[in-house]
Amino acid sequence: MTEHQHDDQDIGRNIRRIVIVGGGTAGWMSAAYLARKLRHLPIAITVVDSSAIGTVGVGEATVPAIRDFFEAVELGEPEVLAATEGTIKYGIRFVDWAGAGKSFFHPFGLYGVPARDVAFHHYWLKLRAAGHEHPLSHYCLATQLAERSLFLPPPDRVVNDLGVFNFAVHFDASKFAAMLRRLSMANGVAHIDARIDHVERDGGHGRVVAVTTADGGRIEGDLWIDCSGFRSLLLGEAMAVPYRDWRRWLPCDRAIALPCRAAGPHKPMTTATARAAGWQWLIPLQHRVGNGHVYCSEFISDDEAETVLRENVEGEVLAEPNRLRFTTGHRERFWEGNVVGIGLSSGFLEPLESTSIVLIQSGLERLVKLFPDRGMDPRLAKTYNQQSVLEFERIRDFLVLHYAANKRLGERFWDAMRTMELPGTLQGRLDAWRAGGEFVRHEWDTFQDPSWLSMYAGFGDLPARHSPLADQFSTAELTDTFDRMRAAIGATLQHAEPHAAFLARNRSRAA
Ligand code: FAD
Repeated sequence: MTEHQHDDQDIGRNIRRIVIVGGGTAGWMSAAYLARKLRHLPIAITVVDSSAIGTVGVGEATVPAIRDFFEAVELGEPEVLAATEGTIKYGIRFVDWAGAGKSFFHPFGLYGVPARDVAFHHYWLKLRAAGHEHPLSHYCLATQLAERSLFLPPPDRVVNDLGVFNFAVHFDASKFAAMLRRLSMANGVAHIDARIDHVERDGGHGRVVAVTTADGGRIEGDLWIDCSGFRSLLLGEAMAVPYRDWRRWLPCDRAIALPCRAAGPHKPMTTATARAAGWQWLIPLQHRVGNGHVYCSEFISDDEAETVLRENVEGEVLAEPNRLRFTTGHRERFWEGNVVGIGLSSGFLEPLESTSIVLIQSGLERLVKLFPDRGMDPRLAKTYNQQSVLEFERIRDFLVLHYAANKRLGERFWDAMRTMELPGTLQGRLDAWRAGGEFVRHEWDTFQDPSWLSMYAGFGDLPARHSPLADQFSTAELTDTFDRMRAAIGATLQHAEPHAAFLARNRSRAA
């Protein structure tokens, strides 16, 4: 066989039609990403969604990986911020989780500088035991920028870890989806607005062959991306992939979202405030503030939850409350046959660390890496599924820590969360931390050491001792070095501009 013939045979097996079911954030992110990554292949991409059904309509806070997505689909950050009324996010402030009146910050950045291969926090623990009063946050540039409402782009090159930080964005989810839709359609994606009534499967291998719509249309495809939201039309319903329910660790199962007029300039951060049976988010945008109450229906009624939310929002309410129900967990398999679930159709982790959109993104990256042909080699799906499950489990453990480490003593919901049996992987991490201030790392971790550190320190869950290796410097030497670190952060802050001024400048530049 000549090389040329071999090529032709390969091409003959290639996927020619991708159908994305759903036009929410997941659907249009999938369309934009796949249209870009597969642009040199003869593959037709179609999005089918129903404007009559609508989208979940929430999901406005992200993590820094979103910047990689913008780059991948060739969207400029200034353009996104202007088109989606977006703002900057350097992390999340957790209010009242560690007890009434206490708050701490989970930054997108590092703390301090390590020395002689010993992590900074061991020196900080040593100094703290000797009476040093500065909290960890004083050694983190991202936290200082956020607290002071400043903006500074991360530098291209850094002198040391003190300069390492990143940012994410908050955006209006419907404006973001609309932006991606324009981009996708400009890149050749077709769009059909119709309600899917029926999914046709092949009698032999059980793959999805076509869908039929309420208006009598029939759409065929080789590869199906299920972005149909919580309904999981293809993966859950048609392919009958069971759901793994994680409510025993993350029992919050409802949310109410309530947008308000912005009452003033907001800090470049998401705020998560603990409430009696859950927590409340505050996501500042340029034109409004997104508010929501995530709660556990076993401990509070929907009406009570709405009252709590209404009592705790600033500014005029702009819309009717949007009530949502969910079950934390994931489909046992994310890819089954020729169907790949992306977004809410594949699973859901409550929005405590704004991780749903990054999971959409990593699902797409993984799919392109393992891209199948029409043979749908099950080993590709197996690899995809193993990696996706691990990624979900890692995030789950990080979220569970937020509840398990709470210090809201004497409240029914919070007492139950503090005393629950933890997943073994999380217990292992906690044990290593509490015994010796060490981090356990796992493959497919989304959250790295500084994130775990911010939580442990924020909750006052400090190890029994610092590493003996930190004793290679005296307290006096460390005090001097720590003074210089704070001074260096202070000097860097001088180069930052107010967050509001940056957004205004960005808007006029993008206009
Ligand atoms: P959806 O938005 O529900 O879209 C489903 C699509 O499928 C729609 O277009 C619908 O029309 C279509 N569809 C369904 N059935 C049919 C049918 N029969 N025929 C045709 N079309 C159909 N994520 C974050 O990253 N950050 C956050 O801060 C965040 N906050 C959240 C807060 C809450 C309370 C919730 C519930 C989620 C939050 N998320 C967050 C998650 C985020 O909202 C979702 O990941 C994101 O919106 C993607 O949703 P989706 O596109 O998968 O589903």
